[in-house]
Amino acid sequence: MKKVKVSKFGGTSMATAETIKKVVNIIKSDEERKYIVVSAPGKRFTDDVKITDMLYQLADEIMHRHTTTSYAPIKERFLEIANGLNLSFSMNDLLDHVLVEMLEDETLEFIVSRGEYLSAIILADVLGYEFVDAKDLVRFKGSKLDYQLTHKTARKVLKTKEHAVISGFYGANIRGDIKILPRGGADVSGALVARAVMAKVYENWTDRDGFLMCDPRIVENPHLIDMMTYRELRALSFMGASVLHSDTFYPVQKEGIPINARNTFNPSCPGTFIYDYVPASKSKNVITGIAGLNNFTLIIIEKHLMNEVPGFDRRILSFCEKLDISVEHFPSGTDTFSMMIESKYLVEDKKEILINQIKKTMKPDNVEVLDNISLISIVGRNLMANKYNMLKLFSALVNTNITLRMIDYGSNGTNIVIGVDDIDYEYAINAVYNEFIREDHER
Ligand code: ASP
Repeated sequence: MKKVKVSKFGGTSMATAETIKKVVNIIKSDEERKYIVVSAPGKRFTDDVKITDMLYQLADEIMHRHTTTSYAPIKERFLEIANGLNLSFSMNDLLDHVLVEMLEDETLEFIVSRGEYLSAIILADVLGYEFVDAKDLVRFKGSKLDYQLTHKTARKVLKTKEHAVISGFYGANIRGDIKILPRGGADVSGALVARAVMAKVYENWTDRDGFLMCDPRIVENPHLIDMMTYRELRALSFMGASVLHSDTFYPVQKEGIPINARNTFNPSCPGTFIYDYVPASKSKNVITGIAGLNNFTLIIIEKHLMNEVPGFDRRILSFCEKLDISVEHFPSGTDTFSMMIESKYLVEDKKEILINQIKKTMKPDNVEVLDNISLISIVGRNLMANKYNMLKLFSALVNTNITLRMIDYGSNGTNIVIGVDDIDYEYAINAVYNEFIREDHER
């Protein structure tokens, strides 16, 4: 692995001249930071509007009304950034030129990609690095990212560059038409670049110190996760923890490149590292993080001698499939089969249709429906390694008098999922956190 780091800076890091100066200091403080990927300028304060959102509005205006009034505030924001940075080119001329190109191209993708394009040109100029347009690196087949071709192309182009600033969020198809990634996709661009140059680490700089063990709206001052595995990250993000764009993992995980989530506004904090594998000796916590989701419905189906009815479970699941209902968990027991379903799939009498179908076709003895259930995923690669952990976990929940509606004893060895009533959700998370984390840290 080469001694290079790929550093991706998000929207808040690129929001103003002042924040860009912080970005420059971070890059200059480590000569291994050779390939930089950027987002468009994001929010400067809570109610601010991201440049990308302004560009979506502009695209709508250009495409439907052929006017450009909403370009003025975009231009103003970029000029303000340029004024604070002493650039070697005329930002005003560049902005005028970009508008002309937008009017020529007139596609949504082209217009909304210009935020990253301009942001990368600005940073490249300040750093004295070469600007590399993502359209020459990131390849799409139709509207889908072509990982293989991107890898080949990016490797070839970047091999010849000592340093580069690359625009995130977009790429192009073979004809050169601009194509965009999903929102938040500059994270993915960074991962593609990290893979192409075989970086020793992929740094993802935002305005947060890294990943917290729990949602701070639920647990007061949760600790920061110092390190975790990709699998744990996946388990946390699947359960709603707001972490990196989920397509980010693939290109870097494939090559065993660690991700390091860092804070532009607190660069002395080492952030969170995500590795393919973390040896048990390196872990100080049993639990890595806790995440959860509300609004599930549990449907419990009982039938005496269910196991003697061939394909009982499969037929019920096929009813769900036909109704386009996705089932999250199906805990089963002797003569019971249950399904944990996100309640959003059961709207518009779908619940009644499903239950009627089950009753009519499968003739169960009883069908019980519990609404307002929350799922909580307790994630920890070492959780299952010691049986006393289970004792600790369940006694913490029992002591708080929480009714457990479901337990999925994580077959992947990474997490345990429990179901509780929505009203017990926050208590349960706090109970587990206090038992495993607060006490360990405060001991
Ligand atoms: N600027 C794009 C967005 O706001 C992409 C990104 O920042 O990752 O979604």
